[in-house]
Amino acid sequence: EQKQLHRLRRVPTRTLDDVEIRLSANAESPEDVTESHAQGATGIGLYRTEFLFLQRNELPTEDEQFRAYRDVVLGMAGRPVTVRTLDLGADKADRTGLALRNEPNPALGLRGIRLSMSRRGILETQLRALLRASGYGPLRILTPMISSREEVMFMRREVRRVHRALKAEGHAVADTVPLGAMIEVPSAAIALSTFVRDVDFMAIGTNDLVQYLLAVDRNNDALASMLTPLHPAVLRLLHHCITLADRNRRPLSVCGEMAGDTQFTRLLLALGLREFSLHPSTLLSVRKRIRETDLGALMQTAPALLRARSMRSIERWVERAD
Ligand code: PEP
Ligand code: MG
Repeated sequence: EQKQLHRLRRVPTRTLDDVEIRLSANAESPEDVTESHAQGATGIGLYRTEFLFLQRNELPTEDEQFRAYRDVVLGMAGRPVTVRTLDLGADKADRTGLALRNEPNPALGLRGIRLSMSRRGILETQLRALLRASGYGPLRILTPMISSREEVMFMRREVRRVHRALKAEGHAVADTVPLGAMIEVPSAAIALSTFVRDVDFMAIGTNDLVQYLLAVDRNNDALASMLTPLHPAVLRLLHHCITLADRNRRPLSVCGEMAGDTQFTRLLLALGLREFSLHPSTLLSVRKRIRETDLGALMQTAPALLRARSMRSIERWVERAD
């Protein structure tokens, strides 16, 4: 089984009827990047930067961050690398240099883009490091916890400002550095049409989107069985975002855990998804599933999936598609 999968490292990710699917990787360490490249990932779809800030009492410097991001870009040898700006909140801020106040509800608190907007210096240092790394290969910047167009426009202005400053200082910076939004807050997903043309790409974070949409804490074991994407509200919202991105010709991936679970591969394909971003350890099994899928036949069953009125009937669809 492992050996069979190993052979899939160098084959294209194509359905039986020859449709190319992009398989990018989620990474949060240099080791993940090496593994992603070895598995033949299309690129890095989500590079989480929190680890650079954790387990220490001071903030990482611009140079330290620059070297970390540059090494990811070099490690992927010309394939696109998507780095997410800091997504820390009060739940993980002890033992960091962030000095955040305790919050009663960190999941709904000052985190992601909200923290970036209130601590401009931290964002500026990270953007400088990211844009400097863009001189070494294709790099994209992804913003977590976007909930409105205003936040997107704020990031656009900051990226433009830092880009100009670095050029003026004589740094080699890529001319275009695509800016994307994580779609993981329901308001952003529902009102995506208000800013879809203001972003260069989107990444749906189903871990948080499911948590917020269903009001189920992703870390509460007592509710684990309720934390499922197989809810009509989740499917409809995913389909809405995928269709809208497609119509506006903006690339979109799903980068939550469900993208790396073969149980959901055909469901996501049926909803129209053509780019998955997943942990490298799951990449080959998802590639295998895609290569065993007749996409034309699968798409015939998509309307039934969207019509489903209960989790049970969605589960049945998933079982039948298997
Ligand atoms: C998500 O929310 O789905 C996601 C990919 O980000 P994280 O798991 O880091 O919150
Ligand atoms: Mg998230």
